[in-house]
Amino acid sequence: MNRIVNDTYRAYEPRPFTADQRKDVTLLFGGVTWRAEQLLEGLFKSAGYNAQRLPDVTVEDLFLGRELADVGQCCPTAFTTGNLSSFLKQEAKRIGPQEVAEKYVYVTAGACGSCRFGQYHQSYELALKNLGLEAFRLFLVQQHEIDQSKASDAGLQTDIHLLLSTALGMMAADAIQDLEYQLRPYEVQPGATNKAAQKAVTEIYDAMLGRPKTLPKWRSVGWHLFTRRFTGAMRRARGYFEGIQLDRLRVKPMVKITGEFYLATAEGVQNYNMHSWLESEGAEVQPAPMVVWFDYLMRYGGQKLEQRFGVNKNARRNFAMLKLGQRVFRAKYDQMRKALGGVPRPMPDQDELRKLAAPFFDNMINGGEGDLLIGKAIWAHTRKKAHMVCELSPYACLPNTMSIGAMAAVQGAYPGMLYAPIEVKGDSDVHALSRCQMVLTEAKTRAQDEFQAALAAAGLTLDEARRRASDRPEVNAPFWKVPHRGAAGTAANVVLELGNASL
Ligand code: SF4
Repeated sequence: MNRIVNDTYRAYEPRPFTADQRKDVTLLFGGVTWRAEQLLEGLFKSAGYNAQRLPDVTVEDLFLGRELADVGQCCPTAFTTGNLSSFLKQEAKRIGPQEVAEKYVYVTAGACGSCRFGQYHQSYELALKNLGLEAFRLFLVQQHEIDQSKASDAGLQTDIHLLLSTALGMMAADAIQDLEYQLRPYEVQPGATNKAAQKAVTEIYDAMLGRPKTLPKWRSVGWHLFTRRFTGAMRRARGYFEGIQLDRLRVKPMVKITGEFYLATAEGVQNYNMHSWLESEGAEVQPAPMVVWFDYLMRYGGQKLEQRFGVNKNARRNFAMLKLGQRVFRAKYDQMRKALGGVPRPMPDQDELRKLAAPFFDNMINGGEGDLLIGKAIWAHTRKKAHMVCELSPYACLPNTMSIGAMAAVQGAYPGMLYAPIEVKGDSDVHALSRCQMVLTEAKTRAQDEFQAALAAAGLTLDEARRRASDRPEVNAPFWKVPHRGAAGTAANVVLELGNASL
């Protein structure tokens, strides 16, 4: 049968959301870690919006997303579409579709790109249509643009003031998360770290609530550069972790998480609760910080400008400005880390990652994690930052499929690398976890072997190491920076420090 399609493509355009509607409308958002979502809620509220995080994602959301939109889409699209749809569906039952369309708007990141990220709005649109909620409004904040100021009567102002505060909020969330993951595996009192993290995030949330509601562009830039509001809150947050008792001589494999942004940063059913599962299996997890991704985007933007040197007269100037912005971004993150005693790990150097990945992947190919995924895996292995890399890639994701293909060559070049590529479909956890467990078993053996080698290098027995650790109580204090003495594991580095040795 011949089917004639008369509709041409049209970009999504929401019904207007005006400034005078703001008081009656609630912004819905989600898709990042619970820490970042709580801080975003504070940010929106401080800017005068009603804001609400979407409920935690469930497997039912995945199925609903597939049912209402495109069944072949990548699973992050299905999860996020289903999560929004499920909430709106319930609300529509409670207050009716018309009221839902008036009462809520959805704000999310958008981009034009080589992958489905550039088409998320189409999935949302299709799902809304299938739910009979066409009148509902979606707003995309473009991830590559800093200033997206709208006319003064626009309901949602994603201007530089909002976006710079968002960046600081993400940094704070990442720094707390990294600290949390370094402490929890060694806590003597189970649950102490989680409790401290909740209080710490609430402290930053309060700081976010009290930031200036609005500022003109350059004053806002100056305020974000010099404000001590967030680092001060981080220092207060530090107090919640101070009393946690640790035993850093527990031998644990160090597992670095990489992969597609949404799945690598999620800490829930989206990736089969991989982070908590790994911890329950005895690992120390290095989570994937959001800031490394933003740092990569700046590096990639710089690469594009480099290609235009001699072609576009502004390219060198724009490149210099971008590099300056990247330096400031990294310095601000270092301030946040410093406020937490320097324990959260620094961001890896993007140029180093680029060089490591260069023999295996063209660094101008973007989408997914581009060459970042490869650079990080080689960096973690060769710099002894982790025993194992667990890479979380979505089913039906073209860019990450390419990166994983390149990882076959990487493993040929680095045969000692323990690499667990997990294709996440969202509904096959037994398969995924068992695959991960096979590599984790090897990583556990490596961690034990490394620990024995550390004891031998330090000339200590385990009992002697424990005795020395009790003579130096700072070794088990939450804000002691474990020195990197050539081992990937925490316990091995502690032993080497106690014996003043290295591997
Ligand atoms: S990178 Fe992959 S998973 Fe993420 S939006 Fe693009 S296609 Fe989907």
